[in-house]
Amino acid sequence: MIVARTRTGLCEARATLPGPVGVVPTMGALHDGHFALLRAARRRDRSLVATLFVNRTQFNDPSDYAAYPRDEAADLAAFETAGVDLVFAPSVEEMYPEGFGTRIDPGPIGADLEGARRPGHFAGVATVVAKLFNLTRPSRAYLGQKDWQQTRVIDRMVRDLNLPVDLVIVPTVRDPDGLALSSRNVRLSPEQRQSATALWRGLELAVSAWDDDERSPEALADLVRITVKAEPLASIGYAEVRHALTLEHVAVADPPLVIAVAAEIGGVGLIDNVVLGEGLVVDESP
Ligand code: AMP
Repeated sequence: MIVARTRTGLCEARATLPGPVGVVPTMGALHDGHFALLRAARRRDRSLVATLFVNRTQFNDPSDYAAYPRDEAADLAAFETAGVDLVFAPSVEEMYPEGFGTRIDPGPIGADLEGARRPGHFAGVATVVAKLFNLTRPSRAYLGQKDWQQTRVIDRMVRDLNLPVDLVIVPTVRDPDGLALSSRNVRLSPEQRQSATALWRGLELAVSAWDDDERSPEALADLVRITVKAEPLASIGYAEVRHALTLEHVAVADPPLVIAVAAEIGGVGLIDNVVLGEGLVVDESP
């Protein structure tokens, strides 16, 4: 496995890789969610590139950036075990050299939900992902369903800017009690972690109501809101039922649909979602 720290080093190493090349962008603190993306890439692509960069410009809250878990040695060892061929792990100066000024504004799809909760977040995401795609030149990029709006923002950008990459969206990996894996979960106390399961419990309630033919977006969203609000340690950000692809409001809860929830617990921002509809997320079952 090659570890490149500079853009030049990356380009040299990338030129030696046989295609098709898959890329898995990460901010490190790797968990089974990241490994699912790496496995999905290994199945489809001949060469596997991972990126490891905690991108300051997508953190609207400096204390969240400072507290973000970092363990580069463990991450590099895990990438090696997962069969990664090339890791790009640049410094902040390498990604944002003196004079850096361009920002990609993803437009309305990034303005709402997480975009409203975290102003500037998706411009930071879109800009760094465009840079990482340009540097790594992948055939396919692997993204997690957990960050559903992020997948829509990147999909919009890839289409709008004609970037030659196909996106593969991998299902959310969860702990046995349903909590979506996240690098931020390590910052939760045992009590906070227990409260955090309310996001998934609320989503499950909404899905079973949908299975029982409830088609009112507000009624479905309310089930999630009520479940999260019942947790004294949790403060709800939003629970929304939207069109899965455009993220627009819907009058009737017909697929393609996303039910998205965000909450803050002990100062830690958590998100989760379910997506209803065919072919939006890859089926990775064996
Ligand atoms: P991050 O390192 O948190 O920026 O995440 C890197 C990639 O892993 C993103 O595409 C995330 O959506 C994805 N990811 C994070 N958590 C999970 C999870 N629990 N299941 C699947 N993918 C995930």
